[in-house]
Amino acid sequence: MRQAPAINPARRRFLKSAATGAAGMALAHALPALAATAGAPLTATPLSERLRLISGAGGNVLALSTNEGILMVDGGEAAHAPALLEQIAGSRDTRRIRMQINTHWHPEHTGANDLLGAQGTRILAHENTKLWMTTDIDLPWQGKMYPPRAPVAWPTETTYTDGQVDFGGQTVRYGYLPQAHTDGDLYVFFPAENVMAAGDVLGGAQYPILDWCTGGWIGGLLNATKALLDLTDASTRFIAGQGAVLSRADVEAQHEMLTAIRGKLVAMIKKGASLDEMMAAAPTKDFDARWGDPNLLMTNAYPGLLGHVRELGGIL
Ligand SMILES: [Zn+2]
Repeated sequence: MRQAPAINPARRRFLKSAATGAAGMALAHALPALAATAGAPLTATPLSERLRLISGAGGNVLALSTNEGILMVDGGEAAHAPALLEQIAGSRDTRRIRMQINTHWHPEHTGANDLLGAQGTRILAHENTKLWMTTDIDLPWQGKMYPPRAPVAWPTETTYTDGQVDFGGQTVRYGYLPQAHTDGDLYVFFPAENVMAAGDVLGGAQYPILDWCTGGWIGGLLNATKALLDLTDASTRFIAGQGAVLSRADVEAQHEMLTAIRGKLVAMIKKGASLDEMMAAAPTKDFDARWGDPNLLMTNAYPGLLGHVRELGGIL
């Protein structure tokens, strides 16, 4: 087991123990997996001459083709990985895929890591993403336990911050979005295409997910959404972890929604409200028509808020 340099070890222990402790027990609802698209065909949507969005692999995947090979962002679920890599490479020989960037650790986005790692493809991720892949993870909000990933699937290089990759004559920028969907979220920006991939930091058609067990919370997700807007312009196309291409208006709508809901939840938690009391107050009701069922957002927001209550000036 490796040390956790990017996150205070005491906080990491808190996150792990909270997942099985009182806060976790309060989450009575066993919820389904993040995505369930097994069996769906893979489809490719061109975003430019070089950049494609691949859908149907369990999570959105981007592929940038250059004279020096292919760079992917995320890799879908493991069950789809052989077909996905063949489609992206255009051949059974998938070694043209030279690099992958993982937006975060969730299996819907790191499922191709084992095959890519085995063929020597560079894999870049945030250090916290690598750390989660080296340990067992209990996600009570999914009703699932995840064992450590095989070492071959671990990122081969990690970052704590922002940077860029010069790949086949193209510049690809990436950067850290702290404690948002998880504590290891990277965005990946393609300046030539003006395409911003943000993984599950963007909810797309549904409320975004706050994986509080691995460091996500609503305050961080709001900051991350603002950061994505600040990094981009009116014509940027955004790629969420799931679903169709998004516009700036979609990201602005997420920012507006999170601002309003975070404000209500923080006011309630400062008064010591329980999860049931928060649910009864229906703080999401103005947004449910656009974003759908708020149950998972609320049940995951609550323990995340408890974990940050001191910085919010709250009751503990
Ligand atoms: Zn995710």
